[in-house]
Amino acid sequence: MSRIRIIPKNENRGSKKEGVIVTKQKKLVLDIVYNSHKHPTAEEVFFEARLAMPNIALGTVYRNLNALVDEGFLRRITLAGTPDRFDKANCDHDHLVCQKCGKLKDVFLSGIADEIKNNSGDEIISYELNAYYICEACK
Ligand SMILES: [Zn+2]
Ligand SMILES: [Zn+2]
Repeated sequence: MSRIRIIPKNENRGSKKEGVIVTKQKKLVLDIVYNSHKHPTAEEVFFEARLAMPNIALGTVYRNLNALVDEGFLRRITLAGTPDRFDKANCDHDHLVCQKCGKLKDVFLSGIADEIKNNSGDEIISYELNAYYICEACK
């Protein structure tokens, strides 16, 4: 089912486990996030997961999401006042966040890490940018 090549975000975290997905549940959770364009919350992942695996528990979904984030396969997006959302880790992009509905839109920016490095003189390992706006639907 999966056409995904799994590349952990942080080498020091994920490299040992590269390509290793242990349980069917974990694989399902990963596939759901990778095939979604909506930056799903844990509950949205749970809802999808139940279509494929009716007996899966919400706790299992949470546990697997957390493990996949720790292992560098997924990225957690934390925004104040809303549940965490999950996204692919192997694709470098940032987010525009609608201030009204909280919907996320991917934006692809290049050179930000270089810009920070040029400014501070420090080597950037990773960064996260959430820029707020009002989406088309909310205007
Ligand atoms: Zn909106
Ligand atoms: Zn995204």
